Parts: sequence; structure tokens; C-alpha cells
Amino acid sequence: MAEDMAERVEALESILVEKGYVRPDALEEIIATYEQDVGPRNGARVVARSWTDPAYRDRLLSDATAAIAELGYGGRQGEHMVALENTPDEHHVVVCTLCSCYPWPVLGLPPTWYKSPAYRSRVVLDPRSVLADFGVTLPEGTRITVHDSTAEVRYLVVPMRPAGTEDLDEEALAALVTRDAMIGTALL
Ligand code: FE
Repeated sequence: MAEDMAERVEALESILVEKGYVRPDALEEIIATYEQDVGPRNGARVVARSWTDPAYRDRLLSDATAAIAELGYGGRQGEHMVALENTPDEHHVVVCTLCSCYPWPVLGLPPTWYKSPAYRSRVVLDPRSVLADFGVTLPEGTRITVHDSTAEVRYLVVPMRPAGTEDLDEEALAALVTRDAMIGTALL
């Protein structure tokens, strides 16, 4: 399946290049941008700021697009962001049931599993068992809410700040935040 897809993408790319619709260097530049400049480190900085700055946290929860732009992140696939804060009572998980909508400016390119039909269908029906597959066990009393991304709205999960991190500064906190925690499939 993945190999088929890679072959199809390669075939499509060579046709587009051959016909002059795209320049290969432009494609390379886009890929390099999302692999090197944009990625989960951006989202991690947003999360760390929200942990350390209560006013920023409030802005993030009321208008995530604007709060994320304050840190310099925005653009394609991040025009309408919503931040979801995990608490002991509620845990958020993000999916795109239709395809693979994902907040590129804060998380970079989506992981392969995010695009898999198994994740997309099962997480809606039985989020607790999908989380268990990811090694995440939540207390019985924690409600799990699944959010379906669309072409319009993209989500960033703000994981709970780990205990014992009171002395860490924003940069050290950001280093603790993982991509999967910001999708909701991991805890910190
Ligand atoms: Fe999608």
C-alpha cells in the first residue's frame, strides 16, 4: 500500500515535471521547508508558552490562530486553528476521518499512521482501545473527546504539563513536548 503510493506519487511527479507544470527545485524546496523549518518543534513552543504564561494560554484557547501567529507560525493548513487543552477530566484526540487534514505550521507533516484507514475509523468508534495501542492508559474517569479535522479547522492538543517541571524554563519545557502528545495519542 505504502509502496504503491510512493510509486504513484513518483509517477505523477515525473509527469508534472515533464509537462512543465512544476519545477523539481520548487518541489524540493517545499519538502525541505516542512522537514526542516516547520515541524513539531513549533507546536512544542506554543505548548510551552501556554504552560508558562497564563495570559498567552487564555489567548490560545480563545483564538488559537492569532496566538500561534504571535510566535511567528502560520500559513497553509493552519489558517483556522483550535487549541484543545487536556485536563484530568478530559483528554482530546485528533483525527481526520475523511483524509489527512493536519496543522502543518505547528506540527509539520503528518505521521503515516495518522493517514491510515485503521486509525481514522477506529479512533472514532473506540478511542480508548486505540489509545491503548499507543501505550496510553487513561483513568476510567477521564472523558475522551475525538475531534475530526476538516479543510477548515485544524486542532492542536495542549497536553498536561508533567509534574515536577516547576523549575524548567520555557525552552526546557518545549523539549519535553512530543508530536504525538499534540495529536492526543501520547502523554508526557
Ligand atoms: Fe483531511
